[in-house]
Amino acid sequence: GDIALYQAKEMGRARHVVFQPHMEERIQMRRTIEEEIERALKRHEFENFYQPIMDAKGEKAVAAEALIRWNHPTRGQISPGTFLHVAEESQLINKIGEWVLETAMKDATHLPGIRMCVNVSPNQLRHPDFPSLVEKLLTRYELEPDRIELEVTEEVLLNDADGVHETLKELHRIGVRVALDDFGTGYSSLSYLRLYNFDKIKIDRSFVEDLDHDVDAQEIVRALISLGSAINVDICVEGIERKSQFKFLANVGDPLMQGFLFARPMPLTKFRLWREGAEDAALDDIELVEQL
Ligand code: C2E
Ligand code: MG
Ligand code: MG
Ligand code: MG
Repeated sequence: GDIALYQAKEMGRARHVVFQPHMEERIQMRRTIEEEIERALKRHEFENFYQPIMDAKGEKAVAAEALIRWNHPTRGQISPGTFLHVAEESQLINKIGEWVLETAMKDATHLPGIRMCVNVSPNQLRHPDFPSLVEKLLTRYELEPDRIELEVTEEVLLNDADGVHETLKELHRIGVRVALDDFGTGYSSLSYLRLYNFDKIKIDRSFVEDLDHDVDAQEIVRALISLGSAINVDICVEGIERKSQFKFLANVGDPLMQGFLFARPMPLTKFRLWREGAEDAALDDIELVEQL
């Protein structure tokens, strides 16, 4: 119950701090949280939220990122940062990941004109059946492959012992898009951009945070945006919270944008309403201009 998750959170941190429960205790804790996740899958406690990814004018959603939430019956809503690392250390991530992907694809059929972006964890990507799962779901939901974009992080690219390169090629052959998430954190290397044919690079939120006051952050973002257009890779800037950041970006190029300034992640029904509202609002603006 409650204690198990609390302990599991502690366990996650324990790598860095003094608290170090005994091995058996840790195995027991992990087992408990794994059982909770299994149960949550059966009881439909997971939900995909969707956050819009906006065009370069910040007017219209062109894509949506699926972000998992756990609606826990007693603890309320739990964010992915709290439980995905436990799932990632067991094979559960493959079950959760399959659920997320299938749900996102099904929901994509209710969001015409919107590309669906789905996070894929390292272990999911390393699983040999992953490309055939993607293919199977595309067929099941009758989706054009390029409606789907898979977001991977660079940690999975560090070494290719697991055949990740082959998997990414296979995904490209299938026709889905692949994005490099959180670019600029960790071990970002420009050689990845040469080695793998990413369709999009998502510039990490940490750069955007500093845009207002840090000239270096400004120049790095500016350079990445022009790099993107030079090598013909879409750029999406994450974590835009303020108008000032949006204005800066609009001046340096035409990246896609994602952040609380435009909208927070939300349930599918709310996303659809938001989209109508946003497009109505844009229409209102046009009408207003025409009246003037
Ligand atoms: P991410 O893929 O980089 O997703 C973006 C995260 O930034 C989301 O957090 C989103 O809510 C948050 N965000 C978006 N705009 C803003 C903003 O303007 N300001 C701030 N402060 N935050 C913003 P969330 O939903 O908590 O997800 C965290 C991470 O968990 C994700 O980072 C992703 O790595 C992982 N994740 C979420 N859902 C899934 C999933 O279904 N599968 C896998 N494998 N990972 C997932
Ligand atoms: Mg992502
Ligand atoms: Mg990201
Ligand atoms: Mg990020």
